[in-house]
Amino acid sequence: MTGGLVGRAAGRRPTDQRITGDGMADDEFRYWCEECDYRTPWLTESAGAEEQIEHYDHHHPGTPPGGRVELRAKKTDGAGCLVVLGILFLLLLATFTFRHWP
Ligand SMILES: [Zn+2]
Repeated sequence: MTGGLVGRAAGRRPTDQRITGDGMADDEFRYWCEECDYRTPWLTESAGAEEQIEHYDHHHPGTPPGGRVELRAKKTDGAGCLVVLGILFLLLLATFTFRHWP
């Protein structure tokens, strides 16, 4: 009997994941001034409120802070969708393969 395992799964390279510096900043709030066209940059809820109060202090003294808050829509990356598509493709491939299996 000859044979046996020839090609052993040696040298498996570790998947090198690129580390990107996204610190998951939740600056999702923008405050709009009611008195003028001013709006704060995208900030956290508390930082935005502070910025708005400061703006009112400087530009509309004596006016209680008002206006509205804009919420940034969260960006969803299509990674999850791609995974689902990949699985569906593999299932299709498997179905096709086994249907034509001798
Ligand atoms: Zn203003």
